[in-house]
Amino acid sequence: MAHPQSILILGGTSEARALAGRLVASGLDVTSSLAGRTSAPVLPEGRVRIGGFGGIEGLAAYLTTGGFSHLVDATHPYAAQISANAVGASAIAKIPMIRLERPAWERPEGADWIAADDMAAAAGALPRGANVLLTIGRQEVSAFFGRTDCRFVARVIDPPDRVPDGWTLVTGRGPFALEDEMSLLERHAITHLVSKNSGGEQGRAKLDAACGSGVQVIMVERPMPPPARTTTTIAGVLDWLAEEGCKCRRSRAARGA
Ligand code: NAP
Repeated sequence: MAHPQSILILGGTSEARALAGRLVASGLDVTSSLAGRTSAPVLPEGRVRIGGFGGIEGLAAYLTTGGFSHLVDATHPYAAQISANAVGASAIAKIPMIRLERPAWERPEGADWIAADDMAAAAGALPRGANVLLTIGRQEVSAFFGRTDCRFVARVIDPPDRVPDGWTLVTGRGPFALEDEMSLLERHAITHLVSKNSGGEQGRAKLDAACGSGVQVIMVERPMPPPARTTTTIAGVLDWLAEEGCKCRRSRAARGA
């Protein structure tokens, strides 16, 4: 028989991992879903399944047949497709959902920081001859392939399938310390940083390093997610689950999260 309170977390973020750990510690039945994009993901506590569901209908069927009572979309703010699928599948399966989304980074007062609507706009905003650090993941680097008049360093967890000759790939998984970010910028004489507005403390150091070194930040704006109840904190998810009748034990750390 299905567990009466069984939570599916759509994950792939550090917040999703932290939430899974918190809910497992509360004695709830938790399954985390990962897309399978990275070769060696850091796995959350609880059950884990990996790979796509097959669109909205596939996710709705997974929710129903798996006997889930609640859905948490804790995916990355730029994972627009799965977030749209979550809203659609929650409606079809009639299973309540909440989105857990990190607050966006704010432009610091006086920072050389411009916004771009998407990757194409960010590529277009680069001046000829720029030395560019891309911290946008590997999936969208091709938007910059046409800028043969600039030099690129792409920092990725896993390398993209291909990059043009002359590009430099730096592999690594954050968080990165401020001094390491400063020396990366210096080592490659970076003049421009292209970043997603991922938010969160873990990825902030590159922005602090750029803003402190006269490197222009080109910030690609977040896609607009479909309407859904949203919280920015793990405590907000716990409150919602409590409203929903789930019995989570609240720790002091989670209340402050
Ligand atoms: P996406 O474009 O929104 O999703 C594309 C497809 O991948 C979805 O339709 C779904 O396939 C599958 N998928 C995505 N997330 C999934 C999950 N958690 N579990 C199962 N299937 C999932 O997503 P994306 O931007 O490629 O991101 C993929 C994953 O990486 C997400 O879990 C996200 O949290 C994480 N991530 C993304 C970024 C980013 O910048 N985009 C950064 C860090 C981490 P089906 O339609 O077949 O179900």
